[in-house]
Amino acid sequence: MDERQSFLQDDDDDTLLFEKLQEHVLEKYPNPERVGCIDHSTLKTWVYTPHKLDLSDPKYLHVLKCAECTRELIELRRLRNEQSERANIGVPSRQHPASNWRWAVFASVILCAVAVAGVIYWRTHLVITPTQVAESTPVAVTIDLSQAGTTRGTDTTTVPAVVLPRRVVTAHVMLPNFSPGGNYVVSVTTDRNGTSEKASGRAVANLQGFHADLNVTLDLRELTTGTYFLATTHEGDPASYFYPLAVK
Ligand SMILES: [Zn+2]
Repeated sequence: MDERQSFLQDDDDDTLLFEKLQEHVLEKYPNPERVGCIDHSTLKTWVYTPHKLDLSDPKYLHVLKCAECTRELIELRRLRNEQSERANIGVPSRQHPASNWRWAVFASVILCAVAVAGVIYWRTHLVITPTQVAESTPVAVTIDLSQAGTTRGTDTTTVPAVVLPRRVVTAHVMLPNFSPGGNYVVSVTTDRNGTSEKASGRAVANLQGFHADLNVTLDLRELTTGTYFLATTHEGDPASYFYPLAVK
């Protein structure tokens, strides 16, 4: 394989091309007078932080016609590579600024992708969070007992079973017609003795004609699904009224 062939085959890594170019400049464009030279600090920036320069500016083409600037660049790169090796950063030693720049672009693309993935992950989990929050957000329900013909202490009732979710429930309860207004305790029990209370809340019933209704909050999250009783107890009456309840 002659030199020309290997030169042409150096497709995915243009380091060889760059080195050929450097050799060419060092040989053909001596500039001992330093005519039109780029100052040292700019060359240093070029090597260390090329993104800070607009390398598309035609003024940088000067180095292609100046052996002295090229030599300075080579020396600066050698120093940089030595430093990065010492710092164990692992910057490949034969990279020129253009490929460093490509690496910087590549790295920022990766960083962006990671950031986007992070945001997506965060948002996906935010979607779940409101659901979890909703578990403790009260569910408004209306319980109509107005037509209940419950007889105290007996299990006769004409209302269908009240169905409530296993959630925190804010219930608007329409008490049986002709119920008294005033303070009530509303509870969920497993039997009619009122001794097995699973949840309860206090409420004040307001009278509107012969209707009485109240609003009560019941936390049913700890209950297992099944059948219960909804009990209402008026403060002036120790006996409770029980209504069938299903918790789902
Ligand atoms: Zn120069």
